[in-house]
Amino acid sequence: MRINRKRLEESMERLGRIGETANGGLTRLALSNEDRRGRDLLVEWMREARLSVTVDQMGNMFGQRPGSASLPPVMMGSHADSVPTGGKYDGQLGVLCALEAIRCLNDHAVTTRHPVTLVIFTNEEGARFQPAMIGSGVMAGKIPLEDAYNARDRDGLRLGDELERIGYLGSEPCVPRPLRAYLELHIEQGPFLEEEHLPLGVVEGIVAISWSRLTLHGVQDHAGPTPMRIRHDALVAAAEVVRGVRSIPRRLGGDMVATVGRLDVTPNIPNAIPGRVSLSVDLRDPDDARLTRAIRMLDRIVKDAAGKEGVTYELEHYWRVPRTPFHADVVGAVERAAKALGTPYRRILSGAGHDAQYMAAICPTGMIFVPSRAGRSHCEEEFTSMDDIEHGANALLLAAAELAGR
Ligand SMILES: [Zn+2]
Repeated sequence: MRINRKRLEESMERLGRIGETANGGLTRLALSNEDRRGRDLLVEWMREARLSVTVDQMGNMFGQRPGSASLPPVMMGSHADSVPTGGKYDGQLGVLCALEAIRCLNDHAVTTRHPVTLVIFTNEEGARFQPAMIGSGVMAGKIPLEDAYNARDRDGLRLGDELERIGYLGSEPCVPRPLRAYLELHIEQGPFLEEEHLPLGVVEGIVAISWSRLTLHGVQDHAGPTPMRIRHDALVAAAEVVRGVRSIPRRLGGDMVATVGRLDVTPNIPNAIPGRVSLSVDLRDPDDARLTRAIRMLDRIVKDAAGKEGVTYELEHYWRVPRTPFHADVVGAVERAAKALGTPYRRILSGAGHDAQYMAAICPTGMIFVPSRAGRSHCEEEFTSMDDIEHGANALLLAAAELAGR
């Protein structure tokens, strides 16, 4: 039993036209008109595959293929929203490979003991509404439904209102449900599989993540008459912090990554010494203990930088998720599928968050990675070859069939 590559490719092309950018990328923001058109097409395809379609209170969409016994389903899928000028592979590839796997079970009239359910999660990217992974977060009981409804986009539009506007505010309760397993195929979004010429990653889990915010308070003053010796420049201290953050992974070794991604400078004009700077620090490491050491190093770096420039500060470590290990049953099923197919693979950790991270809190979970060209994603250049996609989709099919009890 193998997936139908041509059918999968055609579905990718058709869904990829909804929200397509001039350069072949994708802009399909959550709960936009493009998102609605994409969802409508997916519903049509799910009905054609004889799935019973339901929508929950978060707009998460489900298409269930019955099993022979009344058992909890094997769920697979991903998200169909994108970032602005993103690519055609992040999210929708996992949805379409899961749909193709179900179509393939239909083609071969395979009966499984557990039902097999396709899921499309709402607002995974967090590009329009924050936080990210909001649909799976509510389903896992980690984000209150009312908080999710009250998330607002830049124009002040409420998530709950937008769900209703596009016709995908469902009635099914968005709560944890019994599941045999959750499986998600996704692009790697990093360079390792391509560098090692491997078409498949068996994902063992997601790295530990810590977010901090820092505000440095200097003394705002005129850039002309104020001599250097009496300045307290918040931006100069921030620059030291940025350099210091960059040095943390080098000093700790391993696979740690550290990023200052956001910098807000006040008043941010050419002729004033910056009086206040806020910045974000994103630290990630496969090892929780090393991440804790990194946070302590950050504390020291900030203290030293502020002391040197004579500025005060507030530093808050406000969000932390521990390393999320995936379930041995599901990781094992993916590995056995890769072996049965003769597909070379490696075990890998995800550096990015995914819906699977929340799903791991409520059921046995695993992921399959396919390579990203040059490791790039969230851009129009995002690309994965059809050969690699075929390997990944077949591994998804076989792993799901095993877990569902063929
Ligand atoms: Zn994604």
